[in-house]
Amino acid sequence: MAHLELQNVAKHYGAVVVIPGISFEINSGEFLVLVGPSGSGKSTLLKMIAGLEETTSGRILVDGDDITHLDPSARDLAMVFQSYALYPHMTVRENMSFALRMRGEAPAVVEERVSAAVAMLDLSGLENRKPGQLSGGQRQRVAMGRCVVRNPKLFLFDEPLSNLDAKLRAQTRIEIRRLHERLKATSIFVTHDQVEAMTMADRIALLKDGKLQQIGSPQDLYLRPKNAFVATFIGTPE
Ligand code: ADP
Ligand code: MG
Repeated sequence: MAHLELQNVAKHYGAVVVIPGISFEINSGEFLVLVGPSGSGKSTLLKMIAGLEETTSGRILVDGDDITHLDPSARDLAMVFQSYALYPHMTVRENMSFALRMRGEAPAVVEERVSAAVAMLDLSGLENRKPGQLSGGQRQRVAMGRCVVRNPKLFLFDEPLSNLDAKLRAQTRIEIRRLHERLKATSIFVTHDQVEAMTMADRIALLKDGKLQQIGSPQDLYLRPKNAFVATFIGTPE
């Protein structure tokens, strides 16, 4: 069974139709890259899956359960944004444990989850620093750590690398893929960068004006583009 299924999911803002209706499935363990030009509706689609935007019509299913109108906090998923939004007055450890402590998890559980995430994200030795004493890449890893400690099955990444320089971006791509494998997660990774899409994806979904142009393996889109837009978008170097 598909882990995540979108059935004709649409978004209107008043009379403005941003997404007329989109359908696709993602299998458990799959890394899907959602790509498309600025304004094509990528963030809107992720926010509907996360419950941060109301879905106008259609259905969103996770493991067969309809989550379309579920409260965001009741959804078993984590969203990683490009702005890190760490608490500046808290240490790395405090930032990572905050959500678990608020949820009333036992201190021993919090400790174990945070320590595992610190090791997994290569943050050892930085636990007592505050965000202001970290590099951009380290801050991004702390932001991911905050999601990892909650053990979600579904990860939604909204252009998390766009604030990083080219070298760090390449390195973080590899780290995100590794994290995805280790957590046996299902991921949707949004970018407008075709190189990122081609190198990271199991499958790519290409959006234009809120409409799905093609979904398939990077090779599929490259070798068998369904229309001129796909060919140009995938074929044009950065
Ligand atoms: P992307 O992430 O692909 O750049 P977005 O999902 O942010 O695209 O936006 C898709 C379209 O929806 C854009 O044309 C944007 O102007 C429009 N949009 C986003 N939020 C609102 C809103 N609150 N009201 C009206 N239009 C919006
Ligand atoms: Mg966006």
